[in-house]
Amino acid sequence: MIAELVTTGSELLLGQIVNTNAAYMARELNKVGVDVCFQTTVGDNRARMKEVLLHALSRADLVITSGGLGPTRGDITKEVSAEVMGRGMALNEECAARLRADFARTGREMTENNLRQAMIPEGAHIFVNHAGTAPGVAMERDGKLLVNLPGPPSEMKDMLHRSLLPYLAEKYGTIAATVSRVLHTFGIGESKLETTLDDLILAQKNPTLALLVRPTGVVVRITAKAENEEAALRLIAPLEKEIRGRLGNFVYGADKETMEEIVGGELKARGLSVATAESCTGGLVASRLTDVAGSSGYVRGGIVSYTDAVKAEALGVSREMLAREGAVSEPVARAMAEGARRVLGADIAVSTTGLAGPGGGTDKTPVGTVFLAVSGEAGTVAEKHLFTGNRAQVKFRASQAALAALGGYIRKCGK
Ligand code: ATP
Repeated sequence: MIAELVTTGSELLLGQIVNTNAAYMARELNKVGVDVCFQTTVGDNRARMKEVLLHALSRADLVITSGGLGPTRGDITKEVSAEVMGRGMALNEECAARLRADFARTGREMTENNLRQAMIPEGAHIFVNHAGTAPGVAMERDGKLLVNLPGPPSEMKDMLHRSLLPYLAEKYGTIAATVSRVLHTFGIGESKLETTLDDLILAQKNPTLALLVRPTGVVVRITAKAENEEAALRLIAPLEKEIRGRLGNFVYGADKETMEEIVGGELKARGLSVATAESCTGGLVASRLTDVAGSSGYVRGGIVSYTDAVKAEALGVSREMLAREGAVSEPVARAMAEGARRVLGADIAVSTTGLAGPGGGTDKTPVGTVFLAVSGEAGTVAEKHLFTGNRAQVKFRASQAALAALGGYIRKCGK
């Protein structure tokens, strides 16, 4: 079933409010198998709203509006909807009685225009508003369904779950389940990923495959549609296995799993403790490691060694090396990790040193250059990265790379 969402309200067009209703409705409808193929926003203008609704009804089976059901003259969605569905409007006594009772219960005075909310398109199905006053409606014509939901998000959500989704399920039979599985990758770019999965992407049908760039790395989203959740998961499983097989260690987690949780789990499973020595990431690696509940079991501590003096005094990096190589260099990254491991008494230590910018770059060491190292019983390994982005993005990407390097080291060299 193809659906179009029509969010109404001039506030949306002026950018005064963010269209969270469209995102919410799309997410919830897609979950139950409704294909939201179009989203349109229109102001409180009769002619333009009519045009939008007619266009929506010409290309979608289900059109859902939000907003414009209130009591004032500017609230025209229901009237325009009735017009495009070829219906008159009439006062609905049940709705009017409910409104009067609502006002009486809350001790508010009911003005005449409030009754506009009880004007209902003839023959429409009514959705009672349990979170506010304006009722919603659903009307059918030539196999197309037009639904009006209220604009306030709490009212829209309540009506969507309490009334609309059950109404759709009853009308069209059990709607399908749409399930997505997200595989998180790190260390492989979007184009390389696409090349690796090219034939699968070309052949996609159900499940579908999408590559999305996230701050944590590129994610592969597998989405399947079936009669229920288990059946959708059964469709996803073989494709996930194939993708994991091709991507190997580039995939570090799935769905809500984070890099810090995965690395924390690896440390815990092997009984290893970790320490950090951070320059450009300013403590972000330690902060992310300690975001995980139970991390006190493996995080020993960390040193933010931002200046050369602290690198030398707290971590024992030789001043001569700092002067010769510069603070942003592989030997210094190695010495920082080795120093942190020794000073903080950890099994493994990870270090970062780099240039987060925006200033300070040179031809030899441009902004975004980050060296990191991991040191443990099996020796010290180092990596050089060149990240793009602003200061915060470079810091985050460096922390992600440091955690990934730590995870890689543990898997390869850990006990
Ligand atoms: P009311 O009965 O309160 O007038 P309504 O159904 O007429 O409700 P609107 O007047 O269009 O709805 O919107 C009321 C408020 O709901 C807006 O001021 C805004 O805060 C919020 N709202 C409306 N539409 C959206 C949307 N698409 N996304 C997020 N918030 C919205």
